Amino acid sequence: MSGHTTALKVAIDGPAGAGKSTVAKIAAKKLGYLYLDTGAMYRAATVLALRKGLSMEEPDEIAEAVAQAKIDLVPAANADGSPILKVFLDDEDITFEIRSREVSLMVSPLSTIGPVRDSLVAQQRRLAQSGGVVLDGRDIGTVVLPNAEVKIFLTASAAERAKRRMKEFEARGENVEFDTVLKEIIERDRRDSTREIAPLKKAPDASEVITDGMTINEVVEKILDLCSQAKLHERSRRELI
Ligand code: C5P
Repeated sequence: MSGHTTALKVAIDGPAGAGKSTVAKIAAKKLGYLYLDTGAMYRAATVLALRKGLSMEEPDEIAEAVAQAKIDLVPAANADGSPILKVFLDDEDITFEIRSREVSLMVSPLSTIGPVRDSLVAQQRRLAQSGGVVLDGRDIGTVVLPNAEVKIFLTASAAERAKRRMKEFEARGENVEFDTVLKEIIERDRRDSTREIAPLKKAPDASEVITDGMTINEVVEKILDLCSQAKLHERSRRELI
């Protein structure tokens, strides 16, 4: 089977603010792979629920609305050429809106609704089925793509993650105290790791990467290394068949 290029499935999971989407986006571009930010899909579902005035007391209505909606992720480039993933809800660009604090506060409770997860997970698996993909989220290595050839659990201390989120809010012109951001991050981690369905947890076969003190480039290099190793492994596995 030599000469056949291996199109890997790359799963990146970890808590809020670990830098998953930043590095996953760059790694996907370097690999020539499709990048799917699954958190952005849960955020788009949250925008939808907020716009429809639905609260967490109406999980069935939220699930129905999500099942009917069209959520699209479209790769694009910033003015400086860096990759960005645009998010569309029924063909409307909501890329900016999904990162608001209001959405950040509601997304975690909303993502505990089983039928919402079922719709989004089905879409994620469909898009990932032929490989050549990088997915980031909370349950990619454990639930969405348990057979992914590369699994990475990306994390950093809560303080480091809060610092990064502060910068994002500041860049958007939203003024929030550091302690508030830190508290909200810890609360989101708690909810995401203790929920019954698809909790945030490291898959037993995932490589853990702790990003405190690492630059974006260093983390990207680490991911690309793990991908090269997986490709070699796949190649030798195929040659044995
Ligand atoms: O990755 P991001 O912080 O944008 O994700 C927002 C929220 O979406 C997470 O806090 C989590 O509650 C939910 N999520 C999830 N499963 C995923 C990705 C995100 O439950 N695969």
